[in-house]
Amino acid sequence: MKLAQGFFHSRPQAVIHACFLLVFLFSSFLTWREAEVLKDTYELNQQASLNMLSGELDRQFQFSLDQLLFYRNMLQQVMRAPAESNDMRLQLQNFALLRRQPIWHLYASATRGLPLTGIADSQLARFPLLKRDNERMRKELVATLVMSLILQLNDAGKDFHSRLWYLSRSGFWLSSTPLLHDNETLSHFEQSTKAFWFTSMRPEINPLRQSRWSGLYATARERDVLTLSLPLDLDGYWYGVLAMDFPANRISQQLQQALPQRAKGSLLFYNTHFTLLASTAGSKTLVEQFTPTQLHRLTKAISLGGQGTLRLGLRHVSWVKTHNAEGVLIKVDTLRQGLASDTGRVALALLGMWLLFTLVLLLSHQAIFRLVGRMLKMQETFRWRASHDGLTKMLNRTAFFEQAEALIQESQQRNIPFSVIQLDLDHFKQINDNYGHEAGDRVLSYAAAVIHETIGEATAGRVGGEEFCIVLSASASEARDVAERVRLTLARKQVFAGNSAWLRISASLGVASSQETGEYNFDSLRSIADRRLYLAKATGRNRVCDRD
Ligand code: GH3
Ligand code: MG
Ligand code: MG
Repeated sequence: MKLAQGFFHSRPQAVIHACFLLVFLFSSFLTWREAEVLKDTYELNQQASLNMLSGELDRQFQFSLDQLLFYRNMLQQVMRAPAESNDMRLQLQNFALLRRQPIWHLYASATRGLPLTGIADSQLARFPLLKRDNERMRKELVATLVMSLILQLNDAGKDFHSRLWYLSRSGFWLSSTPLLHDNETLSHFEQSTKAFWFTSMRPEINPLRQSRWSGLYATARERDVLTLSLPLDLDGYWYGVLAMDFPANRISQQLQQALPQRAKGSLLFYNTHFTLLASTAGSKTLVEQFTPTQLHRLTKAISLGGQGTLRLGLRHVSWVKTHNAEGVLIKVDTLRQGLASDTGRVALALLGMWLLFTLVLLLSHQAIFRLVGRMLKMQETFRWRASHDGLTKMLNRTAFFEQAEALIQESQQRNIPFSVIQLDLDHFKQINDNYGHEAGDRVLSYAAAVIHETIGEATAGRVGGEEFCIVLSASASEARDVAERVRLTLARKQVFAGNSAWLRISASLGVASSQETGEYNFDSLRSIADRRLYLAKATGRNRVCDRD
């Protein structure tokens, strides 16, 4: 405590700097901690809202996927026990005739059902994956005709997918949206049986008989489509493929709808090979938004985890992998969008408060710094005034005597001679009387300046009205030389006394030294010097007297 007080007294301004710096650092630290908490909250919020969006998207996919599974079950059920109605039997008889035609259509009844569209027996050899087995095909046709009756009841407008269809290895298909022209049929068969979604259903490639998502590709009807395919097997035989198309623009619409109005930012739906599947209106792709290095960081982070967040430059990215479509939903927010969020606004307010606090701190630092500076200056002035004479700027009587005492003791200890010179201006009263008190004052300060400049290392003080005393650690002869130098300098020049009057002045000086008596007593040395001063006065003034 004492140490601190001592330090404050010796360097108060440094203490003020240190205190304010400490408060600034502490407030900045607290603000930074708060900002970190806000950042975590923001990231959690972003992640939670993204999870909701991906949940919504997955729900849409799942709803369609359930339909696909339903149709597979249904086809398998009917194929196991094909209940043939009269209508069906009629259609099967029809098929026996139709199968030789290049393109044929079969309906569940004359009035109902979507058409089954097929190609002729003779065309089948063109397609290595297609094969007709009469017994199996009969069961399959019945099951597909039943499916056509149900499929036609579907409200296509309500579904997330744009098309659901079954492509049979027996060379026919049933689609929720039949082809408009027969001449498209063969090329459609050609394309479909070579497409990934169909070929990847071969048992040797897909032994676990799982569903597969295709990448993005173009069909005759739609520009960008994703296809989900599911194999239909029964008793170890691969009958065909059930498939569903999801147009990219429909997924984009879904994202757009799911994105809350308030939560701006772009939503991008990529697959795990980082092909863009869909995005909200006006979204820039990742390649457009990020540098290759940032992109590398992001793709690496995404490939490692199911979900997460990352700050890239001024953008904030959060992602979550979807259960369907082998997709990853990515939300990108710019700094501006981040700041517009609830946590962003709180962060801005926090920053504002910190800035305000720092400003107030700076201002108060300036005020206190100046105040302490002024106080120190005042203290210095008081201290000076207490020891100096205002007119001559010399040490006053008290301060001079203190210093003289200290000096004489030091000389005694060092065993070196100590001398005292007493000085009194001659006929000073006349100056006052003739030229006024002001002129007297001017002469006094002039005389003091001369003494100060002439005595070198010695110490001088004003000990009376126009009396000065000089002490020095020097021999009697050195002291005499000093006294003589002062006398000569004072007598040599004229002093301006105001009112264009120039005066000649002089002084009488008395010198005493410890060398004479060996005694180091300031009072007695001073009284000897005083005595000699009056001797100088008595013997004509303007002289130095160092003997009685
Ligand atoms: P002497 O040669 O015998 O010393 O003659 P003197 O006139 O100097 O004698 P004296 O000591 O009687 O006069 C000193 C005068 O100094 C008296 C006083 O009015 C004047 N005095 C003392 N202090 C001041 C001061 O601060 N300013 C002015 N202007 N005069 C002062
Ligand atoms: Mg006098
Ligand atoms: Mg005098």
